[in-house]
Amino acid sequence: MTPTTSSARVLLDVALPRTLDQWIGTLTARPMKPGTTVEGWLYEGVETRRAAEQRLASTGIEAHLHSAYKPLVHHFLESIELRGLRRVVVRYPVHPTAPARRFALEAYPLADMLAGIDLELTPMPPAEAQPHYEVDLEWEDGRRRQDVVFAPNRVHVDALGETLLSPTAWLRVRQGAIIESDGPHESEHEALFRLAIDAVMAQDWPASEPYFERLDLRIDVPGIAFAPPEEASWINSHEALHEDLYFTLMELFQRRSGRAAGDRRLQPGQIVPDVRPSDGAARLRIATRPYPAADAQVPMSAGLGRHMALAETTGPLAPAQVAEAFDRIADRQGRPGHRFAAMSRQGRTVSAVYHRGSGPAVLISGGQHANETSGVVGALRAAQALAERPDAHFVVMPLENPDGYALHRELCVPAPRHMHHAARYTALGDDVEFRDAPPLLEREARQEALRLSGADLHVNMHGYPAHEWTRPMSGYIPRGFAFWTVPKGFFLIVRHHAGWGERARRLTEHVCLELASSQALMEFNRKQLASYNVHAGDLPFEVIHGTACMISEVDRQDTAALTLITEFPDETIYGAPFVFAHDAQAAAALAAVDGMRHLSPNP
Ligand SMILES: [Zn+2]
Repeated sequence: MTPTTSSARVLLDVALPRTLDQWIGTLTARPMKPGTTVEGWLYEGVETRRAAEQRLASTGIEAHLHSAYKPLVHHFLESIELRGLRRVVVRYPVHPTAPARRFALEAYPLADMLAGIDLELTPMPPAEAQPHYEVDLEWEDGRRRQDVVFAPNRVHVDALGETLLSPTAWLRVRQGAIIESDGPHESEHEALFRLAIDAVMAQDWPASEPYFERLDLRIDVPGIAFAPPEEASWINSHEALHEDLYFTLMELFQRRSGRAAGDRRLQPGQIVPDVRPSDGAARLRIATRPYPAADAQVPMSAGLGRHMALAETTGPLAPAQVAEAFDRIADRQGRPGHRFAAMSRQGRTVSAVYHRGSGPAVLISGGQHANETSGVVGALRAAQALAERPDAHFVVMPLENPDGYALHRELCVPAPRHMHHAARYTALGDDVEFRDAPPLLEREARQEALRLSGADLHVNMHGYPAHEWTRPMSGYIPRGFAFWTVPKGFFLIVRHHAGWGERARRLTEHVCLELASSQALMEFNRKQLASYNVHAGDLPFEVIHGTACMISEVDRQDTAALTLITEFPDETIYGAPFVFAHDAQAAAALAAVDGMRHLSPNP
């Protein structure tokens, strides 16, 4: 990341021993009686755990080391022969301190891993006991087995004062049949998290927002990274730690500011957790510093050519590529549109162009949440297609949050496959859509777009995590975002003003019918929705022609009469899946433009 400058203020710089090394040191330091067995659960990958088991075996200790994070999934990966498996029944624990489906969610992505195998997930009666899963296994050749999988958790009160049930490291030592010790153990992951939160909250921050320009949290720590070919099955404890640090700090600054929980207008500054793997000790450094210069160069991702056709773009576009594609649309051979712009907090330009035409005007935007990158390409592709029509009437604003986008690119250099929610909001830390007090900065572009065009439809392109999103130090399920934790296909959120309900439904029907012409998209949706149902339960959305939709009325006069929010599970995808994502985004936008022409005129 950008080198620390003299203007950085270091709040904390601390090294912690690796939990696994500590355990091995303690266990081998004393003379072992014959028959000593050890079972441990911690944040380490399978190869490291197996090597540690061998080391302990050489000193006479029989050790079994498991993953503390997603223990059921790791049990299937490490201890069950999947070949020839015919039927699996998982009884998952229900704990009074956790949401009822917490452990069904933590079993994700079992439905995908066991595709083609008869799988049933059923809840056990609620119990305060240490959670465990019971698994019935049946193979084609008639073999049967019943496994009990321990899921070590602790009940604790978090920094917000909420009582939570969270995964924890755990150590159990036996001498023969006698249990010598058995209990939770604060791993380096949990200690780093606690130290980071304590150090930030102990600071004497200014009385009002923003509290800093940028708050860097650099963490190097061992961890778990499971990367199968299927994106939806990715598991990564470093990514999870980034998410938990970012959202926990947002929640704490929210409370400090006196705002309501979840208020997206909070402007603490830019909170930047940068969590990287270490194969030794863990280290945590926290510093505040001024924003980096807006022109700071970040290397382009591999495989991105400057002049690649938009439709073939296999990863997030570089800002220069966005600008180049935007210029072509704005200049539209011989019939240039009306350009306008706003300025971001860090001094980047939010570009937009208005092309006047005959039909109803539509605003198409992308990049409000800057780690949702397929919408930027989708907005440009839809606008490019419209620019070729002689009378198309539209505004395009492909990148609404360029500061967040720059941070996303910066974070993707060390960790291209992490979801990086720290890059979701603006450099001030707020969601640009909800900014309602001057200086409006980025937000001015959207208002100007609606004012200039009089658009009754805003197609606002978004994305969400392509694999599971967790907060393992804070109750596992992301607080306030429980609905978004696992993928559920490409889906639509439609918001309308009072009196527009019937038109909103007709427009949604039209878009869904168009999307249904892609068999590949319908198959993608069907598969992800099926997996969602197994782990998360029923979807609180209606499914229209194969696409999940939520239509609701809003009472907000600073928006278009109709807003179509597109949601593709695009965070962390590259290559053909990324092309597939912006294919769907562009198709939805163009279908919505066509749909507007069929609606009855304004009342
Ligand atoms: Zn979004």
